[in-house]
Amino acid sequence: MTYKDLLKKAEKRIAQTELEIEAAKWLLMHVSNLTPSQFYLAFDQSVKPEVESAFMEGIERYLNYTPIQHIIGYQTFYGYDFIVNEHVLIPRRETEELVEQVLYYYDDHFQGQKVDVCDIGTGSGCIAITLAKEESNMKVVASDISATALEVAKANNQKLDANVTFYEGDLLSPLKGMRFDIIVSNPPYIPNQEDVAKIVRTHEPNIALFGGDTGMIFYERILKDAKKYLKPKGLIAFEHAYDKRTEMYDLAKHYYPNANIIQLKDLSGKDRMTLIEVISH
Ligand code: GLN
Repeated sequence: MTYKDLLKKAEKRIAQTELEIEAAKWLLMHVSNLTPSQFYLAFDQSVKPEVESAFMEGIERYLNYTPIQHIIGYQTFYGYDFIVNEHVLIPRRETEELVEQVLYYYDDHFQGQKVDVCDIGTGSGCIAITLAKEESNMKVVASDISATALEVAKANNQKLDANVTFYEGDLLSPLKGMRFDIIVSNPPYIPNQEDVAKIVRTHEPNIALFGGDTGMIFYERILKDAKKYLKPKGLIAFEHAYDKRTEMYDLAKHYYPNANIIQLKDLSGKDRMTLIEVISH
């Protein structure tokens, strides 16, 4: 069977579900060990039997709602391949934009200076590690309450040759005594009662998804505490749900009345990020 025929066969089956058709392509590229350009050139060639059976096995798991990232073992984020498993949130596209905004902010306000950065609720470590890789002037630390998530984050830190230090504990509390120029977080923000796709609900840790009855609990707790952890002039950068723009603004103003608040949309035009520029507090 050719690559093309095999792909079509799998895509037809996926099309009957609510799953993503593109997953078949990623899986086939992965099991055949081909780069995207090699993959398209190989389209009319025949697939080796062992590749075909590994692919079909993966497709069966995917059709049983195992995330494709758990089958292939990683998710690409900002060009880096992050190891993922059931203990961490699979890094999302939108979060790359949060990282990008923090890097822009650094360039505009701190260019060339050494800064202290922390990532709260680091999960796979994708935000912390990417920042450390992209900007060598950032000294990055990260926290997570989940020991098993931190194992994944540390493995990624080593694999990607980054220099992040990890602390186990609740939000900012394990970082006592430290002071940061930038605090960044993509905390769990789905309201407890909200419907979540089956593949997400069953395979990603609930602790990484839900943020209390309104989905706002972690922002509130971080903002309340952040004063003790920020340098006199500092930035707090959050990713949040698309429908929480006003709530985020009000919450930020409540704790930091003098702050300059910048709210940004993601690439699909949804309100997704709030940057809180704290001048003095
Ligand atoms: N910071 C990690 C990420 O953005 C984990 C987030 C989380 O578990 N809510 O992917």
